[in-house]
Amino acid sequence: MLLLDRKTPKSILILEALLRRLDANDRDFSYFQDYLTRLKFGHEGEHRVDREWFEMPYLNEHYLLFNYEIENEFGFSHQIDTLLLTKHFLLILEVKNIVGRIDYDEQKHQLIRTRPNGMAETLTNPFDQLYRHEELFHRILSQLKISLPIETAVVMANPSTVIGTVPKAPPLFHASGLRAFIKSCLVRHESLLTTSQLDKLAKLLMSRSMSRNFDLNISVDRIRKGVLCEKCNYAVAMTYSRGIWTCPKCGFESRDALLKALDDYRLLISERITNREFREFFNVESMYAASKILSRLNIETVGHKKGRYYIIPEDLLNR
Ligand SMILES: [Zn+2]
Repeated sequence: MLLLDRKTPKSILILEALLRRLDANDRDFSYFQDYLTRLKFGHEGEHRVDREWFEMPYLNEHYLLFNYEIENEFGFSHQIDTLLLTKHFLLILEVKNIVGRIDYDEQKHQLIRTRPNGMAETLTNPFDQLYRHEELFHRILSQLKISLPIETAVVMANPSTVIGTVPKAPPLFHASGLRAFIKSCLVRHESLLTTSQLDKLAKLLMSRSMSRNFDLNISVDRIRKGVLCEKCNYAVAMTYSRGIWTCPKCGFESRDALLKALDDYRLLISERITNREFREFFNVESMYAASKILSRLNIETVGHKKGRYYIIPEDLLNR
């Protein structure tokens, strides 16, 4: 049973909003662009591996948690690409989407990727990440007095990755090998938990699930304000008159261009907005008009009169 689905990470949504509003000449534009490309590439790889799970009829009772985040007792976060709970074992999976060849130097704890053009670089080492997660789950299980083996593995999402010298344990293999690996784990470990123990463990882990904040700390002066025209590649701010936003450059008219702009505001600045902040950011002069636009959105408000603010919901674009 899929308990926690993989959503588009907030980091990707925030970077997309930022790149819509950052000047192409900004000193960090290409840095953020590369950052977004890397995150999207990783996310695509995770999606590719996720599909493998739905062709395993022998898995029986289980819980799958994609992109599970938990904080440890020291206040540090653990981001786990995939967590599988079964009656036989618990599995922590690290998913990597890598182009080229990888080799691991165990003594140096160093993962080297060699690109097809021969250029070599060091990547974050997934083995130490897995070891850190494994230690946490040992502590959690022992606190719960649950005796369950922990399995860990690194899965390569990209079929073209060449796996060079890597340690025997934890296993590292291509996504196509996931089914065989799960089968071998089921054979190696007998069923240890009752259904209610498994349910209890899943419930507890879900109750501790959290999502980490992603903050770029970009000052408002560096981003383009306003409701931006999608036809002009978000380079031009639209003007508001009688319920309609119009682009002064191409003449494009829209009633709901505001929704995307408000969503950008939520991602980049704050999920709360007052009437005054709205007028400043979206270039609406009249307080009355701003109030009318905001109340038409039917979103939650807190406080009264001058202290009133509106809460921009996460699902604003899907309502
Ligand atoms: Zn336009």
